[in-house]
Amino acid sequence: MAPRVDLRSDTVTRPSPAMRQAIANTPVGDDVMGDDPTVEKLQAFTAEVLGKEAAIFMPSGSMTNQIAVRTHCNPGDEFICEGGCHIYNYEQGAFAQLSGLVARTVDGQDNVLQVDQLRGLIRAENEHLVRTRLVCLENTHNRGGGKVLPYGTVAEICQWAHDNGLRTHLDGARLFNAVAATGITAANWAQHFDTVSVCFSKGLGAPVGSALAGPKDLIKEARRHRKCFGGAMRQVGIIAAGALYAMENNRERLTDDHANAQILADAIRATDGITLSPDEVGTNIVFFEVDPAIGTAADFVAALQNEDVSVLAITPTRVRAVTHLDVNEDQVRRAAEVIPQVAERLAAGERPIAHDVVAY
Ligand SMILES: *Cc1c(COP(=O)(O)O)cnc(C)c1O
Repeated sequence: MAPRVDLRSDTVTRPSPAMRQAIANTPVGDDVMGDDPTVEKLQAFTAEVLGKEAAIFMPSGSMTNQIAVRTHCNPGDEFICEGGCHIYNYEQGAFAQLSGLVARTVDGQDNVLQVDQLRGLIRAENEHLVRTRLVCLENTHNRGGGKVLPYGTVAEICQWAHDNGLRTHLDGARLFNAVAATGITAANWAQHFDTVSVCFSKGLGAPVGSALAGPKDLIKEARRHRKCFGGAMRQVGIIAAGALYAMENNRERLTDDHANAQILADAIRATDGITLSPDEVGTNIVFFEVDPAIGTAADFVAALQNEDVSVLAITPTRVRAVTHLDVNEDQVRRAAEVIPQVAERLAAGERPIAHDVVAY
């Protein structure tokens, strides 16, 4: 049988033999003491790529984001973010649990905020009110279907924020997908923000890790918060080596994932009973809606699973498929072939036995 095509997420990649070799051979030290050479190298390289003074390695993207908001805000402060963003929706409200912060969400048009929506939201200095401190953006936008934010809009929002005394943070978990899709460098995207977080364990294919980049003083402050949040680690060069390998080798090939996502998008467009949504795919994340007349998203996922194609049901009607470096073009073409067959069988009334369907 053909091997399983796992399109659930770009987090499912496993380290390649070459990456494992790099991990095995890397020098390490106690990073809490500041002597892990591999961590130092990764941090310096990440800062350079993002055009920032410094960067700090952390175990997860949630931690880089949460430490970023903690670094910019004090308890009782507020940050502004788009209503569909990861920081607000998928990090368990850690900014409230751990930092005593309030989020003010603003729904963007297709997850894109415009500066005019933000004017007037900064609260007056008044003892009744929280203090507005920060604007967070996400690029590419996960829930927006891997959407690349328009560059001019990003620049405008950040300019407005800085003109009005606010800080800015970019959740760039998939910033390198935005770079691959636009040709705009990571440093160009990053220059508009005080801090930027990037994930090594998404499309870049490292097993673990994220980094937060920014000016030296803010990264020093973030290092304090990292200790408090339990994210200071010892001979962590062992995992930083995988991240460094990923940064050095796997950024440019993200365009392959984007081309593969177009193959899926075309198959979905051509299939009755399912609808690509959003109707354009900009990077590596593909969402589609399943017409209730043919079944639920869970039915669709289970039927695909029976063909050894794994995707996720994320609502009763919505399915997500993500391309990444562990699925090649042939595998994606096989998935693209199976999708219309599954839709046809569901439309004809077949009901798969749902097993192991993950929904979130
Ligand atoms: C994956 C992701 C994160 C971080 O997730 P972790 O699982 O905590 O590493 C942050 N932001 C976005 C947009 C993401 O997609």
